[in-house]
Amino acid sequence: MGFRALLTTQVDKSLHHEVVELDDSRLPDGDVTIAVDYSSLNYKDGLILTGRGRLVKDYPHIGGIDLAGTVVESSSSKWSAGQRVLVTGFRVGEIWWGGYASKARVRSGWVCSVPNAISNRQAMAIGTAGFTAMLAIDMLEQTGLRPGQGPVLVTGAAGGVGSTAVHLLARLGYEVVASTGRAAERRDELVAYGASDVIERDSIADLPERPLLSERWAGVVDAVGGSTLSHVLAELKYGAGVAACGLAGGDKITGTVIPFLLRGNNLLGIDSVMRPVEGRQEVWERAANTMDLAMLDAMTTEIGLADLPAAGETILAGQVAGRWVVNVNR
Ligand code: NDP
Repeated sequence: MGFRALLTTQVDKSLHHEVVELDDSRLPDGDVTIAVDYSSLNYKDGLILTGRGRLVKDYPHIGGIDLAGTVVESSSSKWSAGQRVLVTGFRVGEIWWGGYASKARVRSGWVCSVPNAISNRQAMAIGTAGFTAMLAIDMLEQTGLRPGQGPVLVTGAAGGVGSTAVHLLARLGYEVVASTGRAAERRDELVAYGASDVIERDSIADLPERPLLSERWAGVVDAVGGSTLSHVLAELKYGAGVAACGLAGGDKITGTVIPFLLRGNNLLGIDSVMRPVEGRQEVWERAANTMDLAMLDAMTTEIGLADLPAAGETILAGQVAGRWVVNVNR
């Protein structure tokens, strides 16, 4: 038995990608084997596909940090053949072979069920990006965020984490302001996802002149980091928090402790990768049941394995809009 994969090899420090047929004997160790239908494209996949970030230690490699499919074989009592499942995080696609293949073998402790409400393709349209957005919203709510407290800002709004966060927040009844560097092209879509206002990325990208600026945001889902995160920390309403999800705009933050001391603000770290499996299923169910699935489909672009090398460059250039899913059989 064999499977189809985008195999990445390294020759003289440069990466080569090729769609190949491999024998099942090449699959790594693990107690659950999955026939994969769909994977997805996330920022980290872009880093892995282009070799930036040095996340992969051993080649040949199969990337794809997300995967969804059907169990074909399991020696774990938790999963059995025929179940629809998904895997995100746990460094799958990084130090383990991942979802850019029609078969994957993983550890049973990393696996979640695909919620009944959604298809495997829709699970991957949510993917790590949407799972992270849902985690961020959960965390903001745990620290007191509720609808009616004022606008919630989403940065990097046209990207994967951003688009899904805009939509999830709006469906949960929040007033959402979307910040994007592509307002001219993406305004209509962001409004359709649920944003009540769309602002220019540059308007919140400079370092704040003072430790505290006017109170603006009841909460922030931040996919950008850098000076944007430094800026919005100074604009939080009393008691509000920022869920720090990403670094698409940089990893350095500059600021003072004044917002934490005088406004009781919170800087909340969001990690989707090593988050324990306990509680993950609930996050998936909430995301699947909150999304308007027609809107999720409208947010989704489908590509095939051979499209991935170019797509990796596209996402790192900040040019991917919404969510790109990978049909591994295409
Ligand atoms: P995308 O590329 O889809 O989205 C990132 C968005 O950030 C872009 O679409 C763009 O939005 C904005 N952006 C890009 N470059 C810049 C820049 N130089 N300055 C300011 N804004 C910029 O990626 P994802 O949504 O997959 O990931 C977003 C971030 O979240 C990444 O840093 C990723 O590593 C991180 N992440 C973290 C996770 C976690 O567990 N903490 C999980 C998933 C992702 P626009 O055009 O609207 O301005």
